[in-house]
Amino acid sequence: MENNHSSSNSSGSGVSVGDRLCHCGASVKLYTAYTKLNNGRRFLRCGGVQGQKCDFFEWVDPYMCAQAHSINPGLLVRVNHLDDENRRMETVIVPWRQK
Ligand SMILES: [Zn+2]
Repeated sequence: MENNHSSSNSSGSGVSVGDRLCHCGASVKLYTAYTKLNNGRRFLRCGGVQGQKCDFFEWVDPYMCAQAHSINPGLLVRVNHLDDENRRMETVIVPWRQK
């Protein structure tokens, strides 16, 4: 049984998180959602025992408002652009320094 609010697009098998246990006694795993509404938002799910998982589900990261969703992609593009620029400047500056 799948939870409605859980993501079908999550990162693989999940990451173990310390010794936290699910209410069913299995270990809890950390996943990252890659849905349009919750891109990059992390959540916990039951890690299961012998393939038997219960329906435990809990968000780790807070809900991101629509404003954050509209701003984040733009910021990422700018950061990547500035990183490129930095690398380009390094190739110019480093030989100049060694003169
Ligand atoms: Zn469980």
